[in-house]
Amino acid sequence: MSLETKRPTVEAAEEILGGYFPALDHGFVALVDYMGTDEDVERAARVSYGAGTRKVSLTRGLIRYLRRHRHTTPSEMVEFKFHCAMPMFIARQWVRHRSASINEYSGRYSLMPLLFYMPDEEHFALQSQSNKQGREQLASAEIYKSAVERWERIRADAGEGYSWMIGEDIAREIARIDLPLSTYTQWYWKIDLHNLLHFLSLRADPHAQWEIRVFANIIAGMVKRVAPLSFEAWLDYDLLGQSMSRAELSVLTELLDADESSISARPSTSFSSDKLKEIGLSGREIEEFLGKLRRPSVEDFELDLSTMRKAEDVQSEMHKAVPGHFE
Ligand SMILES: Cc1cc2nc3c(=O)[nH]c(=O)nc-3n(C[C@H](O)[C@H](O)[C@H](O)COP(=O)(O)OP(=O)(O)OC[C@H]3O[C@@H](n4cnc5c(N)ncnc54)[C@H](O)[C@@H]3O)c2cc1C
Repeated sequence: MSLETKRPTVEAAEEILGGYFPALDHGFVALVDYMGTDEDVERAARVSYGAGTRKVSLTRGLIRYLRRHRHTTPSEMVEFKFHCAMPMFIARQWVRHRSASINEYSGRYSLMPLLFYMPDEEHFALQSQSNKQGREQLASAEIYKSAVERWERIRADAGEGYSWMIGEDIAREIARIDLPLSTYTQWYWKIDLHNLLHFLSLRADPHAQWEIRVFANIIAGMVKRVAPLSFEAWLDYDLLGQSMSRAELSVLTELLDADESSISARPSTSFSSDKLKEIGLSGREIEEFLGKLRRPSVEDFELDLSTMRKAEDVQSEMHKAVPGHFE
């Protein structure tokens, strides 16, 4: 018997609840549960009795005001619970976000599925020269082919070592120690809207590693369904907005004539990079400042519902990848 709930729910979120969205070659993100919507952000902000509803335009205005002025605690009243599977090197970046609750699959208790992340050729790139934490142009097809051969060899060896030890009844907590960072792990992850948007600001950003962005983009698509007004405000003021330093603001003020009601460009005012340095911007800051002024490209963060899978299918795939599995 299904009970009618008195809790605030959203149709767009109910549509994807419990559905598994593939990420990379063997990973996934599923929204297992959520508590609250945009309405709850407003109710918390107004410390309301919850009687009656307000116009969407009023809720939108309030949510945007709260975000602009960093009044963040009302958005902590909305919670999300996810089930995610990701390669261990991504889990290591993800787990740095401390304001969340995690329960990870136990390699001491359970057998590890032997699933390893294999980057596609289109993401197999050379070390970036400008950003020590990034990649640049694609590697050649021959190098990619040789890398795939090596990955296959190393993973087959690591998987064989693990399976052999399990077969010899060695404790799982010891048998697992040489599984590579490309091995998939999984967890339940619960986080509130405020901290989730902070996570997305850092991990859906182009500076984040592409592989974690794949997960962040799916999660962003889920937030868009649960709390669309908060999502829109985050996009406008955080992801696609920019904060300015004092030096950056002084450059903009010099370039513009602004009064109470209008802004116009000051004719024939320009800044050479020497002038920008004089104002106090370093070479790196100048580059970043110019980057801020470029119009950002906008993702639509729409989930592709045609890729959504059933929990049973995903579970059976994971189960089949465990050593000693027989049909
Ligand atoms: C592009 C990129 C590159 C990175 N490179 C590295 C790297 O090379 N090495 C590395 O170690 N990490 C690296 N990180 C991780 C980064 O330093 C943060 O640890 C991570 O992004 C989590 O951010 P956070 O602490 O703001 O988030 P959370 O842990 O979710 O915290 C949210 C907020 O809560 C507050 N907070 C939480 N805990 C504390 C606390 N103990 N004390 C004070 N305030 C707290 C802070 O305001 C914080 O912003 C990188 C992250 C990114 C996005």
